[in-house]
Amino acid sequence: MTSNKKKKPLRQRVTQATIVRKARELIAYKPADVSPQRRVQRRYTMRRWSVRHARSLEWFYAHFANMFLVLHPLWNAIGYRRAEAPVKFVEKQVKGLLFDCRMCGQCILSSTGMSCPMNCPKQLRNGPCGGVRANGNCEVEPDMPCVWVKAWEGAQRMRGTENILDVQKPVDQSLRETSSWLRVTALAAAERNRNTKAAE
Ligand code: SF4
Repeated sequence: MTSNKKKKPLRQRVTQATIVRKARELIAYKPADVSPQRRVQRRYTMRRWSVRHARSLEWFYAHFANMFLVLHPLWNAIGYRRAEAPVKFVEKQVKGLLFDCRMCGQCILSSTGMSCPMNCPKQLRNGPCGGVRANGNCEVEPDMPCVWVKAWEGAQRMRGTENILDVQKPVDQSLRETSSWLRVTALAAAERNRNTKAAE
């Protein structure tokens, strides 16, 4: 008896090992800038600026989120899936510049003083490890300020100072490289619809 199923050519077969390797490449920690020389020269200027201006950025973000929510009918008309690629592109550029964003897809900047916790080499989302140096720098990357020391500084400048005490869920790796802006908007729109229905 011959099987009707054609075997895929070897090149097209995706093995478990390939999937694991690709996932590892995606989630592995990479320093913010590959060249140590450039990293020293940059001195995390934009990151530090964002923390210093956490209050203004908090205000801007709140209004920006509202604007995105107002545009919900437009995202719906285009289709959230179709809007994903262009919005993600813009989000990556803007947040990459301001926060060295790693596109985790579940942004918590408003709870971390505008300091991105995904820049922590251990990717801790609920406070620092025990290895912060006396000068406030990271034990893994000695030239980098600990993102949690910066988060605390930024949080003190924000209206929502106490948000830093919120317990964060573990990172959902399936949301990596997706737009946090669109996800938050879709969730807010769904909640708004639920509340409207409940009020009727
Ligand atoms: S928390 Fe996530 S989405 Fe927000 S800036 Fe950091 S990596 Fe980007």
